[in-house]
Amino acid sequence: MNEGTSVLLGLEGEFAVLQLERIDPDTVKIVIEVIDRECACPACGVLTSRVKERPLVRLKDLPASDQRTELWWLKRRLVCREPACATGTFTQQSTAVPARSRLTTRLREKIGTAIASGNRAVSEVAGEYGIAWATAHRALIVLAARWLPEPEPTRVLGIDETRARSVRWVLEEAGWKRSDPWMTSFVNADPAVPGRLLGLTPGRSGACVSSWLALQTPAFRAGIELVVIDPSAPYAAGIRTALPTARVAVDKWHLVALAN
Ligand SMILES: [Zn+2]
Repeated sequence: MNEGTSVLLGLEGEFAVLQLERIDPDTVKIVIEVIDRECACPACGVLTSRVKERPLVRLKDLPASDQRTELWWLKRRLVCREPACATGTFTQQSTAVPARSRLTTRLREKIGTAIASGNRAVSEVAGEYGIAWATAHRALIVLAARWLPEPEPTRVLGIDETRARSVRWVLEEAGWKRSDPWMTSFVNADPAVPGRLLGLTPGRSGACVSSWLALQTPAFRAGIELVVIDPSAPYAAGIRTALPTARVAVDKWHLVALAN
């Protein structure tokens, strides 16, 4: 097809448009392929252009000129030419579509930004782009992980449990089950600086605490001298696992509440 078509769809450089077809008044079907026929084997790096299969994969992408798009990618399954390599065959990849993803990177970013910047419900944005709620939510999580800064280092770490939402009763096969979700919050409890939320993790066990601390940098863990908690044995056990040299203290608020 004319190269102008790929320019119009913003696919120039990496992809060529093979076919463009209207399937209903609001939808166009687009078939694309990667321009470069030759590709390096991900295991040994030897270049190959020997095609074994051309699987056709359906992708979700942005609308184009206010029309819904049905995007199909005619992929290449290539054969590695290096006899000593155990890979055999592999599928050509693209930065525009992460491996095993059915969404283009630009659609994923658009969805995450629409939810976060527009302060819109996940369900509303998912409906607009015709994708599942869980897919839209995953797009938001991926972007949030990139946007959120690393937690600031602190000398005093505060840990407490927070109920994530109200108690619900859910009917399952075995009968009614109590759903009582908790979150564990980590705050900067240094009296010299304003208290700030550093992180949140699901659950309220010792494992929640030790696994969240394990995700942080060694410098973050080494900087903690004191950890302030409620009188919770699981939390204390999680802290001793992750921060063997830090002191553990019970905060005043919980101590007074307990005494009363
Ligand atoms: Zn190879």
